[in-house]
Amino acid sequence: MATAPKFRIDVDIHKLLMNAPPEPVQLPVSRGMTLPEPVFPQYPAKLSDPGPESPPASRNWTWPQVRRKMRGWLFPYLRSRLLPGDFHPITAYLFVEYKCNLDCWYCWAYNNQVKGMTEDIARRSIDWLHDHGCRVLALMGGEPLLRPQFAHKVVYYAAQKGFWVYIGTNGRLLRPEVTDRLGDAGVNVYNFALDAWEEKPSLPKALVPVRKNLEYLMRKQYGYGYMVFFNINICRNNSQDVRQITEFAREHRIATDYHINETPMLEQDEHFRHLSENPTYIRPEDWPQIDALVDWLLEKNQAGYQMVNSVQRLQEMKAFVRMAGGADLQRLGWNGDGTGMNGDVAGKIGNMPGIVQDANSELHFAGWNCRAGQNNVIIRTDGTVAPCFPMYPSTFDWGNIDRHKFAAPQLADMKKTCQQHCFSTLNHNLAYCYNDARVIKFVWTNLVKNRMRGGARGFED
Ligand code: SF4
Ligand code: SF4
Repeated sequence: MATAPKFRIDVDIHKLLMNAPPEPVQLPVSRGMTLPEPVFPQYPAKLSDPGPESPPASRNWTWPQVRRKMRGWLFPYLRSRLLPGDFHPITAYLFVEYKCNLDCWYCWAYNNQVKGMTEDIARRSIDWLHDHGCRVLALMGGEPLLRPQFAHKVVYYAAQKGFWVYIGTNGRLLRPEVTDRLGDAGVNVYNFALDAWEEKPSLPKALVPVRKNLEYLMRKQYGYGYMVFFNINICRNNSQDVRQITEFAREHRIATDYHINETPMLEQDEHFRHLSENPTYIRPEDWPQIDALVDWLLEKNQAGYQMVNSVQRLQEMKAFVRMAGGADLQRLGWNGDGTGMNGDVAGKIGNMPGIVQDANSELHFAGWNCRAGQNNVIIRTDGTVAPCFPMYPSTFDWGNIDRHKFAAPQLADMKKTCQQHCFSTLNHNLAYCYNDARVIKFVWTNLVKNRMRGGARGFED
């Protein structure tokens, strides 16, 4: 197999983002702060409630739970619309770890040499976000549950401060006692990542090894009031697994969220070991099987399976593999067997809303109002900040939690290019939602009228 391209954005912007500034980005100076010791259990009755044997037909959320969701999402949105200035984070990713206990071959977002976040940085990050009006905190990694006691402290502190807390995990360390501690502390959502049914060499995030943890997590969600959804990365070598996990989710009334596997947007250093010979990368000869899988998902979405992705977002996946693959094709001569990008398919996809086909027949996204660096921020383990997850490895100086340096002109300039190639689900969703009419409709339909009974549906449903 050929080597994959080292990055996917234009050379000039890549240089700007990856050429270290004369001085390294300044780290916040330690103030020796700590996180409070969580009280456990706060809710002994929930701890002893085993949860239902099988999932109830519908889920009724209490008004306090609905209010908490509004406090997390709606009020920061309104604040960002009303207050002057450009930086009003609504969603924040807190990278408590950059180490991981697994090795997914497509993943460049972990490095086992990097130290985990300190309590000092975690506490100050949460305080800083709180002061800026942010109320949605996602614990990310690497694997954020590598230090379960630390994660417990972070969730407890954030929930006490009124954050809506989200955890992205591979689930291996989410043992029942960890589920109970985090549920008791106030976690709101688990983004449970699964790519395969049984573990395979390049895709270790599999269901079979985590089944016991998962079954406990699913049962206890009704008592503690959190939600679980599966995060599934569509790769060239897991089409059948994606179908099987989707059916499992349906059976257990769990929502699903799909991503399409990407080569790294920015060049990685030597910590990323699988750029060559990677069986997960989608190549032109795989486009027909990916199209068939996306069509199957669209059918299931329309049949009422709970999916976070909208119909349009699923359809865009077909275009995205051709964008990424199209660029790779040119750089690498991945000609495939000609069945992928024929004029017909390219023409149809070029006409999809939001997709542009330029004079060289290259496909890319039209501008989509990315809000990263304005309404989304990531905090690295060392307390430095960046606008979004794809920019984690950038050496550009956006400052730290003591003093951010986000500037609207720099972000706008950068996004002219990176928006064309970026499939960041969170930021696409945030961009779509950053619209008063849609927010009003969503609040009315989902929070007031249906009291979230639809679960984790796409924002536009
Ligand atoms: S579990 Fe997550 S962080 Fe770890 S290697 Fe896989 S994708 Fe990366
Ligand atoms: S488009 Fe937005 S989310 Fe994507 S890389 Fe650029 S700034 Fe980040």
